[in-house]
Amino acid sequence: MKQILNSLNKLAKDKHIENKKYFDKLKKKQPKNLDYVMQELHDKEFKKTDCLQCANCCKTTGPLFTLADIERISKSFRQKPQQFIEQYLRVDEDKDYVLNSVPCTFLDSENYCMIYEVRPKACREFPHTDRKKFHQISDLTLKNVAVCPAAYNIVEEMKKRLPL
Ligand code: SF4
Ligand code: SF4
Repeated sequence: MKQILNSLNKLAKDKHIENKKYFDKLKKKQPKNLDYVMQELHDKEFKKTDCLQCANCCKTTGPLFTLADIERISKSFRQKPQQFIEQYLRVDEDKDYVLNSVPCTFLDSENYCMIYEVRPKACREFPHTDRKKFHQISDLTLKNVAVCPAAYNIVEEMKKRLPL
Protein backbone atom coordinates (compact mmCIF):
# COMPACT_ATOMS: atom_id res chain seq x y z
CA MET A 1 0.00 0.00 0.00
CA LYS A 2 2.85 2.38 0.84
CA GLN A 3 4.26 1.98 -2.68
CA ILE A 4 0.87 2.65 -4.26
CA LEU A 5 0.38 5.76 -2.14
CA ASN A 6 3.83 7.05 -3.08
CA SER A 7 3.04 6.83 -6.79
CA LEU A 8 -0.66 7.78 -6.63
CA ASN A 9 -0.18 11.49 -7.10
CA LYS A 10 1.85 10.98 -10.26
CA LEU A 11 -0.51 8.32 -11.61
CA ALA A 12 -3.49 10.63 -11.06
CA LYS A 13 -1.66 13.54 -12.68
CA ASP A 14 -0.84 11.40 -15.73
CA LYS A 15 -4.51 10.42 -16.08
CA HIS A 16 -5.95 13.85 -15.33
CA ILE A 17 -6.59 15.02 -18.91
CA GLU A 18 -8.02 11.64 -19.95
CA ASN A 19 -10.25 11.55 -16.85
CA LYS A 20 -11.39 15.13 -17.33
CA LYS A 21 -12.42 14.40 -20.95
CA TYR A 22 -14.22 11.24 -19.82
CA PHE A 23 -16.17 13.02 -17.11
CA ASP A 24 -17.04 15.90 -19.44
CA LYS A 25 -18.63 13.36 -21.79
CA LEU A 26 -20.33 11.61 -18.86
CA LYS A 27 -21.97 14.87 -17.78
CA LYS A 28 -23.51 15.23 -21.27
CA LYS A 29 -24.71 11.65 -21.63
CA GLN A 30 -25.05 9.14 -18.82
CA PRO A 31 -25.24 5.41 -19.53
CA LYS A 32 -28.56 3.96 -18.33
CA ASN A 33 -26.81 1.47 -16.04
CA LEU A 34 -24.45 4.04 -14.45
CA ASP A 35 -25.72 3.64 -10.85
CA TYR A 36 -25.71 -0.13 -11.13
CA VAL A 37 -22.18 -0.36 -12.55
CA MET A 38 -20.77 2.12 -10.01
CA GLN A 39 -22.21 0.15 -7.11
CA GLU A 40 -20.70 -3.04 -8.51
CA LEU A 41 -17.25 -1.48 -9.10
CA HIS A 42 -17.29 0.16 -5.65
CA ASP A 43 -18.21 -3.08 -3.85
CA LYS A 44 -15.62 -5.10 -5.79
CA GLU A 45 -12.82 -2.61 -5.08
CA PHE A 46 -13.59 -2.24 -1.37
CA LYS A 47 -13.70 -6.01 -0.92
CA LYS A 48 -9.96 -6.05 -1.63
CA THR A 49 -8.97 -2.65 -0.20
CA ASP A 50 -7.94 -2.48 3.44
CA CYS A 51 -8.48 1.12 4.51
CA LEU A 52 -6.58 0.44 7.74
CA GLN A 53 -3.41 -0.04 5.65
CA CYS A 54 -4.03 3.32 3.98
CA ALA A 55 -5.94 6.09 5.81
CA ASN A 56 -4.64 8.53 3.21
CA CYS A 57 -7.96 10.44 3.22
CA CYS A 58 -7.73 10.97 7.01
CA LYS A 59 -4.06 11.89 6.76
CA THR A 60 -4.15 14.33 3.87
CA THR A 61 -7.58 15.87 3.37
CA GLY A 62 -10.07 15.59 6.21
CA PRO A 63 -13.84 15.98 5.90
CA LEU A 64 -16.35 18.80 5.99
CA PHE A 65 -18.34 18.87 9.23
CA THR A 66 -22.07 19.59 8.90
CA LEU A 67 -23.98 21.07 11.82
CA ALA A 68 -25.55 17.64 12.39
CA ASP A 69 -22.03 16.11 12.51
CA ILE A 70 -20.90 18.73 15.01
CA GLU A 71 -23.97 18.16 17.24
CA ARG A 72 -23.51 14.38 17.20
CA ILE A 73 -19.74 14.34 17.77
CA SER A 74 -19.70 17.04 20.45
CA LYS A 75 -22.50 15.20 22.28
CA SER A 76 -20.35 12.05 22.34
CA PHE A 77 -17.56 14.16 23.93
CA ARG A 78 -20.08 15.71 26.36
CA GLN A 79 -19.11 19.08 24.96
CA LYS A 80 -21.22 21.94 23.73
CA PRO A 81 -21.09 22.23 19.89
CA GLN A 82 -19.42 25.64 20.22
CA GLN A 83 -16.66 24.18 22.42
CA PHE A 84 -16.05 21.45 19.84
CA ILE A 85 -15.86 24.01 17.05
CA GLU A 86 -13.38 26.15 18.96
CA GLN A 87 -11.19 23.20 19.81
CA TYR A 88 -11.05 21.34 16.50
CA LEU A 89 -12.48 23.28 13.57
CA ARG A 90 -12.04 26.31 11.36
CA VAL A 91 -14.15 27.82 8.58
CA ASP A 92 -12.66 27.38 5.08
CA GLU A 93 -12.92 29.56 1.96
CA ASP A 94 -16.29 27.98 1.05
CA LYS A 95 -17.59 28.79 4.55
CA ASP A 96 -17.64 25.13 5.57
CA TYR A 97 -16.40 23.77 8.87
CA VAL A 98 -13.22 21.74 8.36
CA LEU A 99 -10.47 20.38 10.62
CA ASN A 100 -7.94 22.84 12.01
CA SER A 101 -5.18 20.62 10.67
CA VAL A 102 -4.43 17.32 8.98
CA PRO A 103 -3.76 14.45 9.67
CA CYS A 104 -7.14 14.29 11.37
CA THR A 105 -6.92 14.64 15.17
CA PHE A 106 -9.20 11.64 15.53
CA LEU A 107 -6.95 9.21 13.66
CA ASP A 108 -4.96 6.96 15.99
CA SER A 109 -1.47 5.54 15.41
CA GLU A 110 -2.89 2.32 13.92
CA ASN A 111 -5.13 4.15 11.45
CA TYR A 112 -8.32 3.59 13.46
CA CYS A 113 -10.84 6.41 13.70
CA MET A 114 -11.35 7.27 17.36
CA ILE A 115 -14.85 8.61 16.66
CA TYR A 116 -15.83 5.93 14.16
CA GLU A 117 -19.42 5.47 15.41
CA VAL A 118 -20.18 9.18 15.20
CA ARG A 119 -17.77 10.21 12.42
CA PRO A 120 -18.82 12.90 9.92
CA LYS A 121 -21.14 11.95 7.08
CA ALA A 122 -18.40 12.90 4.59
CA CYS A 123 -16.09 10.28 6.14
CA ARG A 124 -18.78 7.60 6.00
CA GLU A 125 -19.39 8.30 2.32
CA PHE A 126 -15.80 8.88 1.10
CA PRO A 127 -14.74 8.37 -1.72
CA HIS A 128 -18.39 8.61 -2.89
CA THR A 129 -17.85 6.08 -5.68
CA ASP A 130 -21.17 4.34 -4.87
CA ARG A 131 -23.06 7.59 -5.02
CA LYS A 132 -26.17 7.66 -7.24
CA LYS A 133 -25.88 9.97 -10.27
CA PHE A 134 -22.11 9.74 -10.10
CA HIS A 135 -21.71 12.20 -13.00
CA GLN A 136 -22.80 15.00 -10.64
CA ILE A 137 -19.63 14.72 -8.56
CA SER A 138 -17.08 14.58 -11.40
CA ASP A 139 -15.00 17.51 -10.14
CA LEU A 140 -14.74 16.00 -6.69
CA THR A 141 -13.83 12.61 -8.14
CA LEU A 142 -11.06 14.14 -10.25
CA LYS A 143 -9.51 15.31 -6.97
CA ASN A 144 -10.25 12.13 -5.04
CA VAL A 145 -8.37 9.86 -7.47
CA ALA A 146 -5.17 11.60 -6.36
CA VAL A 147 -5.93 10.87 -2.68
CA CYS A 148 -7.65 7.50 -2.66
CA PRO A 149 -6.13 4.45 -4.39
CA ALA A 150 -9.53 2.74 -4.38
CA ALA A 151 -11.17 5.69 -6.16
CA TYR A 152 -8.30 5.69 -8.69
CA ASN A 153 -8.85 1.98 -9.46
CA ILE A 154 -12.63 2.40 -9.62
CA VAL A 155 -12.36 5.21 -12.18
CA GLU A 156 -9.89 3.16 -14.26
CA GLU A 157 -12.34 0.22 -14.26
CA MET A 158 -15.26 2.53 -14.94
CA LYS A 159 -13.65 3.77 -18.16
CA LYS A 160 -13.30 0.16 -19.34
CA ARG A 161 -16.81 -0.90 -18.33
CA LEU A 162 -18.56 2.23 -19.58
CA PRO A 163 -16.64 3.49 -22.63
CA LEU A 164 -18.00 6.83 -23.90
S1 SF4 B 1 -11.19 5.49 1.51
FE1 SF4 B 1 -9.50 5.51 0.06
S2 SF4 B 1 -7.98 6.99 0.86
FE2 SF4 B 1 -9.42 6.49 2.50
S3 SF4 B 1 -8.42 4.84 3.60
FE3 SF4 B 1 -9.79 3.86 2.12
S4 SF4 B 1 -8.53 3.49 0.31
FE4 SF4 B 1 -7.42 4.96 1.61
S1 SF4 C 1 -13.06 11.63 11.65
FE1 SF4 C 1 -12.28 9.56 11.54
S2 SF4 C 1 -12.77 8.83 9.46
FE2 SF4 C 1 -12.99 11.07 9.48
S3 SF4 C 1 -11.00 11.90 8.80
FE3 SF4 C 1 -10.94 11.78 11.04
S4 SF4 C 1 -10.05 9.78 11.51
FE4 SF4 C 1 -10.71 9.73 9.37
